[in-house]
Amino acid sequence: MSRLLIVEDEPHIASGLRFNLEAEGHEVLVVEDGEAALRLIVEQPTLIDAMILDIMLPGMDGFAVAAALRARAWLHPILMLTARGRAEDVLRGFEAGADDYLPKPFDLSILVARLHALLRRQGWKLAPPPPDEFTFAGKTVDFAAQELRVGAEVHPLTLMETNLLRYLVRHDGQTVSRKRLLEEVWNVREDTDTRAIDHFMSRLRKYVEPAPDQPKHLLTVRGVGYRFESSPGSKAP
Ligand code: CA
Repeated sequence: MSRLLIVEDEPHIASGLRFNLEAEGHEVLVVEDGEAALRLIVEQPTLIDAMILDIMLPGMDGFAVAAALRARAWLHPILMLTARGRAEDVLRGFEAGADDYLPKPFDLSILVARLHALLRRQGWKLAPPPPDEFTFAGKTVDFAAQELRVGAEVHPLTLMETNLLRYLVRHDGQTVSRKRLLEEVWNVREDTDTRAIDHFMSRLRKYVEPAPDQPKHLLTVRGVGYRFESSPGSKAP
C-alpha cells in the first residue's frame, strides 16, 4: 500500500484514477491544482509516496509543480500526464523532474503498471541499500541512495539523474548519442535532435566538475552526444 497524490483538475479523470488506485489497495488523495499539491507536500513532506501530476492545471502548471518539488529536494516518484503527441511536453516534464509520463488519454491498467514500477524502484531505494556505488576522482555516486557525494557535500539526485549517471558510468569511456540516451534512459523515442539532455548534463556537471565550463568527466562530443570519463587521460580518446 502506498499513499498517492493525484493532481488533476478534471473531476472525471481524478475520480477514475482514485477508484482504480484504491482498488489496487492504495490510499489516494486528490487535489485540483498545483498550489494545493505544493502546500500539502511542504507541510507534510513524508505523507506522499508518489504523485500523478497533470500538466494542464489552473494556475501553476505541472512543470512548475515538479520543478518546485525537486528544488525542495522532494525526490519521490512523479508520473506526469502529458498531451498526446507532444514530445516537447515529455522532455520538458523530465527536465522539470518527472520520473515517467503517460500521454492522455491513457489506459488505466498501463498507468497502474507504470506507477507500480516507479514505486518498486522507490522501494529498492528505501530498503537497506546493497552496496551500489561508483567512485571516481574523489566523488562517489551512491545509486541506491540517489546521491552524489563530493567530500562533505551531498547532492540528492532524482531517479532520472541517477539513471543517467548509471548509464554513463556503465559506458565509461564510450561516446553515447543523445538519441540513445533518450531511448535507453528515458525510454523516449524521439527522432528530432533534442537538447533536453543538455539540461541534465549541466546540472550534473555542477556537482561533478571542479570547473563546469571545462568538464573533464562529462564531456560533450560535438554533433554526437556525450562521453563520461571516470579517469580522463588514462586512455586514448
Ligand atoms: Ca488538466
